[in-house]
Amino acid sequence: MKTATIAHAAYSTFVEQVKAQKVQRATVRPHRIDYSLKPAVGFKRFYTTPPAGKAEDIKAMLRQHQVDVVIPADNTGAVAGAMGLLLSTGALVGTLAWLFKNSPDNEAMGLNKTKARPYGPGQSQRGRKANGKTGVTFADVAGVDEAKQELKEVVDFLKDGAKYRQIGAKLPKGVLLVGPPGTGKTLLAKAIAGEANVPFFSVSASEFVEVYVGVGASRVRDLFAKAKKQAPCIVFIDELDAIGKSRGGGGPNNGNDEREQTLNQLLTEMDGFDDNSGVILIGATNRPEILDPALKRAGRFDRQIIVDRPDRSGRLAILRVHARQVTIAADVDLTEIATQTAGFVGADLANLINEAALLAARNNRSAVTMADIYEAMERVMAGLQLRSRILSPIERQTVAYHEVGHAIVASLMPGATQVSKISIVPRGKGALGYTMQTPAEDRYLMLEDELRGQLATLLGGRAAEEVVFGKVSSGASDDIQKATDLAERAVTQYGMAADLGPIAFVDTQSEFLHRSSSRRPMSGEVAVEIDRQVKQLIHQAHDIAKAILVLNQALLQAMAQTLLAEDVLEGKQLQEMLLKAQAPVNTQIWVAKGNKV
Ligand code: ADP
Ligand code: MG
Ligand code: ZN
Repeated sequence: MKTATIAHAAYSTFVEQVKAQKVQRATVRPHRIDYSLKPAVGFKRFYTTPPAGKAEDIKAMLRQHQVDVVIPADNTGAVAGAMGLLLSTGALVGTLAWLFKNSPDNEAMGLNKTKARPYGPGQSQRGRKANGKTGVTFADVAGVDEAKQELKEVVDFLKDGAKYRQIGAKLPKGVLLVGPPGTGKTLLAKAIAGEANVPFFSVSASEFVEVYVGVGASRVRDLFAKAKKQAPCIVFIDELDAIGKSRGGGGPNNGNDEREQTLNQLLTEMDGFDDNSGVILIGATNRPEILDPALKRAGRFDRQIIVDRPDRSGRLAILRVHARQVTIAADVDLTEIATQTAGFVGADLANLINEAALLAARNNRSAVTMADIYEAMERVMAGLQLRSRILSPIERQTVAYHEVGHAIVASLMPGATQVSKISIVPRGKGALGYTMQTPAEDRYLMLEDELRGQLATLLGGRAAEEVVFGKVSSGASDDIQKATDLAERAVTQYGMAADLGPIAFVDTQSEFLHRSSSRRPMSGEVAVEIDRQVKQLIHQAHDIAKAILVLNQALLQAMAQTLLAEDVLEGKQLQEMLLKAQAPVNTQIWVAKGNKV
């Protein structure tokens, strides 16, 4: 969708909001005023406005209306700029940290040797914890409980391999951590090493790729040779996409040859050690879609673990982890900060706390106050918004109503699958939010009213936008695509349009073979009728969705507000809210109409 930015406000709007006591705090800078609204007023987010008049006058006005005036640190501009740069390369930050950690020891290194070395027991390494662990445990990683749970199994295997071997169970050879930058993939891998108390070889895939052909491949070979000697152990390959890109793409230049050789060597090595060798390979990537499919095949990285952006409670947990490391003043409300940091990943939150601590120190305070955190938040957020990771308040609202629209319609539809979760934590490309439906059973047959119910559910998102805002966004394009496909199939394959009867209008045989359906030869008249029927199905579904949401507008509002506050709605809370949804009388008529479209 669109690129999000801090919401811009006219100066006059700003003054009005100040006078109406709506502004919580403002930072007056030479060329802009950044401010946030009080929680009660709409959605508390950040705005910026060009100042009109002298800074002193503006500040006087702000104080007069009890606005919290934040004094910007003297070098704000420079710091914010640098921050933006650092933030925009979350992956790079990880790599840099890795480089520092791995800066050359006394040990001489051959070009063909891997730079990876174990942090494991028996390896006396400078600066490393004496107990030989990475020093990171699962307690340091928060907000990614599902990923942690899965990884605990891996740790268990390393601790107690005999138990698994005895029963004949095989653990996946390779575990691939997949998720956006900064969500804690590298951290999780370190935590595993810390928990399992086995040697941990860490390497960034980018270091395999050197200028000289063949170097990468021999480094891979060397790495695995070392690892096998120290088994049980973990080999962690970070930023796997650096070598794991799909082969065959691009021209036959040197760089690609080198990368391919390296990748081939990695594949060979993965196939070469058997499941019980005690070597577990963990990879991490932000870009699973570009990985060579061969890497994901069975016996290689055959288990993917998603490390996703945290929701509100996840963010709170992460904030708690990082707040432990600094002195926090009594006025700091981490729950409030978690609420206001939608879209932040773990690395952003760590950054936020650190920035706030720097501010406090710079101002000679002994503890980090809420004001420090707010000021830091403005900086971090500005950087994130540049990369459109943060939705503007308007976008968040739109997404929230849209998703709740799907859920309410789904809850009333015949044969509806239960909505188990609604989320407005953006994930992946394109998906700004999602509604998860869990079917009660596997379905192979869809009844006509169920099909209509699905259509209405698909259009429920768009309908909610219309009902609430009176206008629509581009956010429903995927729903519309799906709905159109489904309606088209209903008419041309399932024979659900009475006027046309049970005639197949597409050749599904060829569909399976060629993956694209082709219409059978037909008269122009029939083609027009098909289009008309498809259109009618869609329109009826849309009308139903809209009727439902108009009737349930209060519920729609309440649920969207809760969703905006919490980021997710699930479990009992969600079910109780959905129970309040009422079906309009004409839903029955619609369903009872049967085949007559
Ligand atoms: P990734 O590898 O996914 O890009 P990292 O593991 O390198 O992210 O995270 C960078 C830093 O951000 C970590 O060292 C940690 O300080 C912080 N961080 C990220 N995710 C989390 C998390 N889930 N819990 C606690 N801290 C986190
Ligand atoms: Mg990383
Ligand atoms: Zn949708």
